[in-house]
Amino acid sequence: MKENKWHLESRLAQIGSVDEPVTGAVNYPIYQATAFRHPQLGQSTGFDYSRTKSPTRTVLEEASAVLESGDAGFACSSGMAALQTVFSLFSQGDHLIVSLDLYGGTYRLLEKILSRFGISASYVDTNDLDALEQVRKPNTKAVFIETPTNPLMMITDIEEVSLWAKRHQLLTVVDNTLLTPYFQRPLELGADIVVHSATKYLGGHNDVLAGLIVTKGEELSKEIGFLHNSIGAVLSPTDSYQLMRGMKTLALRMERHESNALAIAQYLLNHPQIAEVFHPGLPGHPGYAIQKKQSSGNTGIFAFKVTDARYVEPVLRHLELIAFAESLGGVESLMTYPAVQTHADIPAEIREAVGVDDRLLRFSVGIEHAEDLIADLGQALEAARIEVEGGQGHE
Ligand SMILES: *Cc1c(COP(=O)(O)O)cnc(C)c1O
Repeated sequence: MKENKWHLESRLAQIGSVDEPVTGAVNYPIYQATAFRHPQLGQSTGFDYSRTKSPTRTVLEEASAVLESGDAGFACSSGMAALQTVFSLFSQGDHLIVSLDLYGGTYRLLEKILSRFGISASYVDTNDLDALEQVRKPNTKAVFIETPTNPLMMITDIEEVSLWAKRHQLLTVVDNTLLTPYFQRPLELGADIVVHSATKYLGGHNDVLAGLIVTKGEELSKEIGFLHNSIGAVLSPTDSYQLMRGMKTLALRMERHESNALAIAQYLLNHPQIAEVFHPGLPGHPGYAIQKKQSSGNTGIFAFKVTDARYVEPVLRHLELIAFAESLGGVESLMTYPAVQTHADIPAEIREAVGVDDRLLRFSVGIEHAEDLIADLGQALEAARIEVEGGQGHE
């Protein structure tokens, strides 16, 4: 990776374009080797066995550390693998404070697996310092933040929470999947660890499953390095290459995701079949000011509520360009129904208490033309209205 003096766009475009000493290739090659020759007894090229360190993965990891303004990067086989590796910092009896409206898989990992190892979690609005203080216990070890959250787009002030956490000797961990380092760099705001589902925006094409961890500080980097190697949920050389291939265009994609999502959110805001739009880039959103302060842009995801739950099924059936599918962050637009898909593992009463009810849809806006996306959504809403209410269409 080239020096730090370049803009993020330039560094992204040139990921993997390091000095490849043999051929000068501008893309770093895929080294499949799992074992590496030792020059002689007691010597190493720096590579011994690929779980510990592997050339293609190393290029990705070093680039990721620079992009997130951290000291070390670790590439994992999925976002969940990255989260499991980070949560392995904690021991029996430890307690964590975690964002409400959490990614369903992270909730499942905490409640169904880590709970069996004696690690407990309290779920609160992490932007409310009083709420944090209320659930803090003598055995609390960390605050885990998603900002914005998915699907309700709740915003947490990373700087404020990190300061509070430091006062109480707690680690601050931020899942930065939705904004990516292109728009938000939590380590610069005081966080200790950043995790990513790189499957989403960083990869960007719905074709590689990957996770990343970036750490600040020598001690913590060493600890995560030990866990990364010991647990072994590391990213393969081919997927490391594939991820870097995606990251080269991150800046361009994020700009388009942002402008498309804002245009569609504004369209829905004035639509008679839409009850509510959750987008932190809209001035009416409660997290608008904090989001603007700590991030240089908005993600391509937002959520909205239709006025009648009966619209949901026909809207999803009538979409032509937008696919009804889980996941997010790819170039293709995907619509998700969180109550029965991504958030099915969260008990209904918890889900509904935070607002993930049967009228909520989540839209991962792709990089298609905004006019086409608006037209597709518009015709699906109109078709749903006719089915539910009967009466005449405009055709
Ligand atoms: C998808 C996702 C994860 C899990 O990542 P995988 O790559 O699917 O394992 C974690 N956090 C967030 C915010 C996600 O969107």
